[in-house]
Amino acid sequence: KEEEMKDKMVRRFKDTMKSEIVALREASRARYLKDRVKKKLEEIRDEIEDDDNMFGGIKLSEFETLRQNYKRRSVEVIKSRPEADKDYYEMPEAYDRDGVINQDKRFAAAVQRYKEPGETGGKMNSFRDQEVWEENQIGKATVKFGSKDKKTKSDDYQYVFDNQIVFTKTSVMDGEKYENDLCSDRQQESQSRDKLTLFTKHQDQRRNLPIYHYREELLKAIKDHQILVVVGETGSGKTTQLPQYLHEAGYTEHGKKIACTQPRRVAAMSVAARVSKEMGVKLGHEVGYSIRFEDCTSNKTVLEYMTDGMLLREFLVDPQLSSYSVVMVDEAHERTISTDILFGLLKDLSRSRSDLKLLISSATLDAEKFSDYFDRAPIFKIPGRRFPIDVLNTKAPEPDYLDAAVSTVLQIHVTQQQGDILVFLPGQEEIESAEEILKHRIRGLRSKIAELIICPVYGNLPTDLQVKIFEPTPEGARKVVLATNIAETSLTIDGIKYVVDPGFCKLKSYNPRTGMDSLLVHPISKASAMQRAGRSGRTGPGLCYRLYTSYNYQNDMEENTVPEIQRTNLANVILTLKNLGIHDVVHFDYMDPPPVEVIVQALELLTVLGALDIKGELTLVGRRMAEFPVDPMLSKMIIASEKYRCSEEVITIAAMLDVGNSIFYRPKNKQVLADNAKMNFYTENCGDHIALLKVYNSWKEAAFSTQWCFENFIQVRSMKRARDIRDQLEGLLERVGIMVTSSADDLDAVKKAIISGFLPHSAKLDKFGLYQTFKNRQTVHIHPSSGLAQSLSRCIIYHELVLTTKEYTRQVTEVNPQWLVEIAPHYYSQKD
Ligand code: ADP
Ligand code: MG
Repeated sequence: KEEEMKDKMVRRFKDTMKSEIVALREASRARYLKDRVKKKLEEIRDEIEDDDNMFGGIKLSEFETLRQNYKRRSVEVIKSRPEADKDYYEMPEAYDRDGVINQDKRFAAAVQRYKEPGETGGKMNSFRDQEVWEENQIGKATVKFGSKDKKTKSDDYQYVFDNQIVFTKTSVMDGEKYENDLCSDRQQESQSRDKLTLFTKHQDQRRNLPIYHYREELLKAIKDHQILVVVGETGSGKTTQLPQYLHEAGYTEHGKKIACTQPRRVAAMSVAARVSKEMGVKLGHEVGYSIRFEDCTSNKTVLEYMTDGMLLREFLVDPQLSSYSVVMVDEAHERTISTDILFGLLKDLSRSRSDLKLLISSATLDAEKFSDYFDRAPIFKIPGRRFPIDVLNTKAPEPDYLDAAVSTVLQIHVTQQQGDILVFLPGQEEIESAEEILKHRIRGLRSKIAELIICPVYGNLPTDLQVKIFEPTPEGARKVVLATNIAETSLTIDGIKYVVDPGFCKLKSYNPRTGMDSLLVHPISKASAMQRAGRSGRTGPGLCYRLYTSYNYQNDMEENTVPEIQRTNLANVILTLKNLGIHDVVHFDYMDPPPVEVIVQALELLTVLGALDIKGELTLVGRRMAEFPVDPMLSKMIIASEKYRCSEEVITIAAMLDVGNSIFYRPKNKQVLADNAKMNFYTENCGDHIALLKVYNSWKEAAFSTQWCFENFIQVRSMKRARDIRDQLEGLLERVGIMVTSSADDLDAVKKAIISGFLPHSAKLDKFGLYQTFKNRQTVHIHPSSGLAQSLSRCIIYHELVLTTKEYTRQVTEVNPQWLVEIAPHYYSQKD
């Protein structure tokens, strides 16, 4: 008995010690962090005192020299690798090789596309669709005074069979079986084992996933290798199961966490929700997610699903990622810019942290590239379980893919047996239009056809609607999921038998010479088309309806999508890299290096903003800017608000701009009312930034009321998001030592802060009444949705310039041109 007592005491003592140690560890970490913050604040104060100039005191002449140097250097790099940047310049077809928008070429391209489609030769028709769509949107968005509500032709949709689409079967994608007998043995074994024990429904489902049969082998491979590339069909269980296996195998002991990155916010949230259910824990406890401006984790969290961008920010806080034992870069084939940067950082980190396990998981079978990059890491292939799929193509190209998609859905619904439908559309707007058209067309047919449940899925989808996607379809009904690329590999929706693929996606591309982003609807790549088709054969033989010809597939589609890093603005990434102490951003270990000109443009912009000094080193301003998870121009605007004593207003504007173009709401039957409501915020030609500020402040005065939003035709969801973002920005202000000060009576101060951030985004009115950018002398147009669209201002600052059918500036404010020279003498001279 005495022995037993002793034993008990020892155990109790050990337990107490254990918790003591944990507490001590936490306390020391807190102390460490506190010290760091204190030190940083002191540094910041010191530097602020001896340097009042936000732009690092660079002179105009110095800046010009710098530009020349950069140019020379980029020419050198380009010469050293002539092939590397070739693809880039061929991307946006509206540009010529010098990066100037070539109107002739664009016109020629348009004519080509308008040509009557021949039996096989007609082109896929994205350009025309884009134009029609844009017109439609402009019609929706233009702020009109007292204009009559016109009825458009497209309101009269016709019944599906009036314009039936003719498909021909062009190929069959073979199903994939388990590779050998061994596997089916294993399956049986697990099934018989299942009978012995009682499992919950979720546990049963988990055991039925293809990955389950490879659990032990996978764990062994991970144990034996530091870096492992895991490849498997979408839905095989990589995202939901792998982190759980690792947790069960003890990788989360000793207070370590497992990170799993996702390219998309919705995917991170929904997968975390799913896994927390499977584990029977509350979301945010053991399983959590973190996305920009939203942290749903706690100190209990061991499985952390996060966007790739968030892990990148984690590197800034803790470059060793010391709280993680495993990092899984999921959906690696998506090649988002953050994923690509993470590759470089993680590869480097894996050398110094031998205890860190790295999993690179991807849906496509082209995994050699990942393996090669990570020093020939082994590839683990999870054999697929896919049924054969019949691929159908249209006989001729479809002139309007949206309409064709809707017709195809109805055709399937009326003629084909049970099974849900998945339709891929380029973006939220198209999904909303398609939903509207579909609802309209089935309205009259209620009694004639079975129930059709419409589920939209896109990046900004509110949480309550996300749940609907995964709910099983009731008996006798059919579900049609209208999704963006997110359903290509990120989210698996069970029960899909039919896929409708119009063959387009929205692709962002950036031109360094003009500094312009374009967001155009583009044909997808062949790899994407295969993935999309694959979604139909998960639970039984599938059918994929492609709304393009097989000629289009062969001739108009690239093999693979160009990685984002080669077609986007890099300012944000370069700032992050510099903040991580990576000085030579040209020779960073990129999997596919971005065009050097884009890097140089980013360096130039960061220098203009004062984030880098003349030697290309991060300045204090730059370090403070990097604290904010927003674009450098926005973060500079926020930093500048300190000088102009208007941080209160500026963070509101920043939050509203970050939410995007979804604040104002314009229902079809109340357009005039909505326009008038909108104009109430545009008193005295104040411009879009100030109008956004007024919207937010009025909402605040109305105690953040939903009713107020409703009455003023404002989207309450967007406002709530803006409020969340604003709260976070306010917290970050404190972190960089900026006080919240208001300058409500002096809106010029606010405008000056905006200029400090967006100084390269300026344009002036020329003698023909057109706007020209100051630096590139490029003609731009104010977007019709802007409050300044119909007024002529001498000089404007704009938030963004986007090429759609025209070069449109969005979110515009009128400024005094003299201010440009006053605020940024290193960039503007009186001559400008
Ligand atoms: P992979 O990452 O290999 O594509 P997942 O782990 O995402 O596969 O999916 C495995 C299974 O879990 C699929 O059958 C899918 O239907 C199911 N699943 C995933 N996410 C959810 C969710 N949010 N709700 C319901 N089921 C889900
Ligand atoms: Mg996945």
